[in-house]
Amino acid sequence: MSMSTLSQSNQSNKANAIALHAKPSAHFLEKVAETVSLLQQSVTDFSPVTQASSLGAEDVVITHLIDANALNIPVFVLETGALHHETLALLERTQAHARTSIKVYRPANEKVIEFVKTHGQNAIYESLELRKACCQVRKLAPLAEALKGQRVWVTGLRREQSSNRAEVPLIDRTDEPSKGLIKLNPLANWTWGDVWHYIAINQVDYNPLHDQFFPSIGCAPCTRAISLGEEFRAGRWWWEDEAAKECGLHAKK
Ligand code: SF4
Repeated sequence: MSMSTLSQSNQSNKANAIALHAKPSAHFLEKVAETVSLLQQSVTDFSPVTQASSLGAEDVVITHLIDANALNIPVFVLETGALHHETLALLERTQAHARTSIKVYRPANEKVIEFVKTHGQNAIYESLELRKACCQVRKLAPLAEALKGQRVWVTGLRREQSSNRAEVPLIDRTDEPSKGLIKLNPLANWTWGDVWHYIAINQVDYNPLHDQFFPSIGCAPCTRAISLGEEFRAGRWWWEDEAAKECGLHAKK
């Protein structure tokens, strides 16, 4: 199966995310062209460039654009050790079929063991500090490794995703983990309908959890499906206040 082919389980699911969401906005084609142009320009002007992929819907679109335009943008995935098996299966398929390289960064095993030993298996639900400490070990430390030597990192952030992200710029030089890197958010002005329209017309492989009402997918213990009327990121760290709902990957100075 090619990277751009939907998995059979996704195709056979009638009430899937494509059927529910694929609806391009008025300027869809212009947005695609702008996204490609931004990615191309970043390679020309600022290499090395890398894409941070969570393997969510936005990120599979960006990886597909990188592949389709043969851009020199390798991709990295933070494999926290707590991802859903559906995400791990998609990671394997992507590694097997993408043209660009897909590098996986994992947390230091001894740090994870130390965290669980000290704070317990359910620490992340006990306080914001402990939840963020887990994100530090499993996500932020590997992110720092992944960004070493890079000049630009590409993310799938969109303004629509949450009130915290309502002003995400296309090009950001101010976020905290970047430490002087440029963060490129080429889908900042894409709608959810645009993302799924792109996936549909290009038959991009995606995480089947999206068919089960998981619009935003992170680690398994910290992600649940959402109900009708709930906000896009309501299923992430659902026991916390809205304002706290980031893992630190996209923190501002
Ligand atoms: S999202 Fe949850 S499991 Fe994943 S690193 Fe953060 S606290 Fe830990």
